[in-house]
Amino acid sequence: MLDRTAKLKTYQTYIDGRWIDATSGKTFETCDPYTGQPWALIPECDKVDVDQAVDAASRAFERGPWPKMTPSARGKIMRRIAQLIEQHAEHLGQVEVRDNGKLISEMVAQTKYMPEWFYYYGGLADKIQGTVVAVDRPNHFNYILREPVGVCAFITPWNSPLMLTTWKLAPALAAGCTVVIKPSEYTSASLLEFVKLVIAESGLPPGVVNVVTGYGALVGEPLVTHPRVAKVAFTGGSTTGARVNELAAKTFKKVSLELGGKSPNIVFDDCIVDDAVSGAVSGIFAATGQTCIAGSRLLLQETIHDRFVEKLVDMAKTAKLGDPALAETQVGPVTTPPQYQKILSYIDIAKSEGAKCVLGGGAAPQEEGGGQYFVKPTIFTGVTNKMRIAQEEVFGPVLSVIKFKDEDEAIEIANDIAYGLGAGVWTQSLKRAHTMAGRIKAGTVWINTYRAVSFLMPFGGYKASGLGRENGVEAIDGYLQSKSVWINNGPGGGNPFIMKTAS
Ligand code: NAD
Repeated sequence: MLDRTAKLKTYQTYIDGRWIDATSGKTFETCDPYTGQPWALIPECDKVDVDQAVDAASRAFERGPWPKMTPSARGKIMRRIAQLIEQHAEHLGQVEVRDNGKLISEMVAQTKYMPEWFYYYGGLADKIQGTVVAVDRPNHFNYILREPVGVCAFITPWNSPLMLTTWKLAPALAAGCTVVIKPSEYTSASLLEFVKLVIAESGLPPGVVNVVTGYGALVGEPLVTHPRVAKVAFTGGSTTGARVNELAAKTFKKVSLELGGKSPNIVFDDCIVDDAVSGAVSGIFAATGQTCIAGSRLLLQETIHDRFVEKLVDMAKTAKLGDPALAETQVGPVTTPPQYQKILSYIDIAKSEGAKCVLGGGAAPQEEGGGQYFVKPTIFTGVTNKMRIAQEEVFGPVLSVIKFKDEDEAIEIANDIAYGLGAGVWTQSLKRAHTMAGRIKAGTVWINTYRAVSFLMPFGGYKASGLGRENGVEAIDGYLQSKSVWINNGPGGGNPFIMKTAS
C-alpha cells in the first residue's frame, strides 16, 4: 500500500557519481496522477547541467575505466545491476505507480522482469566480436573492430519510464558506452530511485550513468544538439521524434527513435472468440490505453462484428477503475492533465465524425482520494479508416472498431496509416496467420496474443513509428561502430598517385 500521507519528497539529480541540485537551484513538482496532488520535487536542470553531465560522461568515456575494462568485467557489473533490481523491484514498482499511475500489478511484474535485460546484455558484452577479413590483396592482414559509439543521450516518455530506460541502458553499457538520461518531466522519480538503489551501488565508475531532469526544450534540446553526444536514443511521440531527429542530424549523431502507434488488432471469424475479446481488451484498456503498442484500431470481420462487439462491451464494462496502488484495480488514471484533456477531445472528435459510442464516452470522476483524471473505457463502432479517430494516436482507453470483408481488405485498412509499430491477428488458420504476418507493415505482429514483449525479441517501428530496433541481439549494434584495420605485411610501393585497388 502506498503511503500518501508523507510530506513532499525532494530529489536531487546524479552527475559524475554525485547527487546534486540543479545549478539554478530550481525545482518543479511531480504529481500523483491518482490524487492529482504533488508528491515530490524534482531538480529543474537546464543547459548548464546538461553540459556538466555530458562532460562527465565524456571524461568517463575518454579517460575512465569503463570502455577499457574487459567486456567480461563489464558483464559482471551488469549482472550486479540485475541482482540489485531484483532486490528493489517492489519498491521501484511502487514509485512508478505513484508517479505515473500505472497499475501496481503491471508495474511490479515489469520491474521484476527488468533484470533479464541486464543478465542478457551482460552476457552479450564479451561476445561482441570483430571479424578477420580475407581481403583481396596479397600480404595483407585485415580485421574489423567493433567499438562503442561514445556518449549516448537517452530521452524517455512518461508511460513506462524504467522499462524504456532499461531497453536502452543495458545494450549501451554492454557495448562500453557512457550515458546521460533525460526522463520525462512528468515521471522522473522512478529513474532517480533506480539510480540511487541500483546504479550507484553497482560498482559502475562515476560518470558512466548521469541524469538530467527537466523539460524537453530546456534539457532535451541541449542534450540532442551537444557536439560530444554521439548517439541519441529517443522514445516518445512522433512529432517530438521528428524534431529530435532533425536537431541530431546537424551534428551527424546516430539516432534511434521509438515513436507512436495506431496499431490494428485484426479479428477474423475463425478465431477463438473469447481469446480475441480478451486480446482486444488487453490491447486498448490495459495501462489505460497509454501504451505505444495499444491496439487502438480493432478491425472486425463483418461476419463476426455484432456478436464480437456485444461480448467485448460486456467484458470492458466490468473493468474496475480506481486506485492504481490496489491489486484489484484494472484501469487506472490518465497520467498527465494535458493527456486527460487530449483523450476527452478525441472522444468529442469521434462523436462529431459520426462514430457510434457503444461504451463509455467521457470522464469518469472517482469519489475517494481525488482520482480526477479518469476516462471511461470507451468503444466506438461504425468507424471508417479515414476518420481522425482511426488515424491519430489518442494514447488513452478509446477503441475504434472498423469492419472489413476479407484478408485483402483487412491488410488495406491495417496498412493505410502513417504508423507501423504493432499489430494483432486473431485466427485459427495457420496459413492466414503467416500470410498476415508477412503482409502487415509493422515492427511486431502478434498472432493470437497481444502486448507481449521480451528482451529477446527486437522491438521498433516501421514508417512514422520509428527508426532502429531495441531488444534482441541486434539492439547492441546501435551502440557500436565498425573500424576497418588494414595491415600491409608485404612490400610498399606502387603508384602513390592512384588509389590502392585490387587491380
Ligand atoms: P513526448 O514526445 O512528448 O516526450 C518524450 C520525451 O521527449 C520527454 O522526456 C520530453 O521531455 C522530451 N522532449 C520534448 N520535447 C523535446 C525536444 N524538443 N527535444 C528533446 N526532447 C524533448 O512523449 P510523451 O508524451 O512523454 O510520451 C508519449 C508518446 O511516446 C506517445 O506518442 C507514445 O506512442 C510514445 N511511446 C513510444 C514507445 C515506443 O517504444 N515506440 C514507447 C512508449 C511511448
